[in-house]
Amino acid sequence: MKPLLELQNVSYAYHSKTGETFALSDISFQVNKGEFIAVVGPSGCGKTTLLSLISGLLRPESGSVLFEGQKDASFQEKIGYMLQRDHLFEWRTIYQNVTLGLEIQHKINDDSKARIDKMLMDYGLYKFRNAKPSELSGGMRQRAALIRTLALEPELLLLDEPFSALDFQTRLSVCDDVYEILHREKKTALLVTHDLSEAVSMADRIIVLTKRPARISTILEITFEEGRPGPFARRNTPEFKEYFNVLWKELNSHE
Ligand code: ADP
Ligand code: MG
Repeated sequence: MKPLLELQNVSYAYHSKTGETFALSDISFQVNKGEFIAVVGPSGCGKTTLLSLISGLLRPESGSVLFEGQKDASFQEKIGYMLQRDHLFEWRTIYQNVTLGLEIQHKINDDSKARIDKMLMDYGLYKFRNAKPSELSGGMRQRAALIRTLALEPELLLLDEPFSALDFQTRLSVCDDVYEILHREKKTALLVTHDLSEAVSMADRIIVLTKRPARISTILEITFEEGRPGPFARRNTPEFKEYFNVLWKELNSHE
């Protein structure tokens, strides 16, 4: 089976008048359909840059990004990008926010409306569809942002520290929600986080990056004796602590 996403020896540097910032060096990995991949690495190492290259916002200086084996940028519309802050518009209702992408792409029709209503119901936001973002809790806003991203039916989701603005307790429950939603929708996801326990609690594999310019330091396979438990359940498994310690050592071995 062809991987959904493949990076081959991707390198990238930012150029400006004052000089050059070498951000990524020789990154290669594959993501299969349905996989949940986490990317961890020190702050400023190049994680967001990596997602920008995958989404097509930036072009690699060398190497290639392949989507279903294709190199052309037409795959951009198959990718959903969810950022650290939810970027909901305060002057639009929750419904108008989650349908914004569909509206822009002229894709509002009976099918897409039914799909949105179902997601709003499934994820506990239907009652709030006419509310403004400021009336929602942080966790609810993040769910709304996720529905907005899923509305366009992306095949690959890029999540850039989507939970970091939430308080710890909310983060745990939103993690669980998002994991559940992505599984139910059979989505492939790439989650960037600096929170090691978040990575272990959600991912099938974890890509560990070095300090800038990021290289791949290791790729850790995450498996549990009891199959594929959700984030909350994982935190209580004996494997959880072991993986956390392996990651911790790996990240600190480059200091
Ligand atoms: P991370 O997401 O891992 O914190 P980033 O990918 O955002 O790291 O940034 C990697 C490096 O590239 C940092 O040193 C950052 O300052 C630099 N950088 C990011 N964006 C730009 C830009 N638009 N122009 C110049 N340098 C940038
Ligand atoms: Mg970042």
